[in-house]
Amino acid sequence: MTLKYCQGPDCHTYTTKDRLRGPAGSKTYQTRRRSSMYYGKGNFCSMQCYNDWAEKFSDRAIDHFGRLTEPKHLTEENAWEKKYDWNSNHETHYVYVNGITGEHRPLTEAQFRDSNYTLNER
Ligand SMILES: [Zn+2]
Repeated sequence: MTLKYCQGPDCHTYTTKDRLRGPAGSKTYQTRRRSSMYYGKGNFCSMQCYNDWAEKFSDRAIDHFGRLTEPKHLTEENAWEKKYDWNSNHETHYVYVNGITGEHRPLTEAQFRDSNYTLNER
């Protein structure tokens, strides 16, 4: 089991008991280290640490990976969404709904559950 450090830049400044580590007489508040963390793809120990990172690094990360400078478009060809519903007999009924045209097309349960099955253009 590998332990990794929370990537929150201010994690060590939150003075909780579990962060206070080290030998008696020279304890310090330290960045949390865990085998698994729940926030930001497992990189942050808390929403607070995730937000601290975003506040400090978002602009640089976006500039590095590419800032949007025009709107993206979801077209009719890619607006199909799988949905399910129950009829009055409590039977599940699966359908593909186009978010732009509103068109409904029936789906089998197998198609609904198959993450590779899509009407959207790739
Ligand atoms: Zn943290």
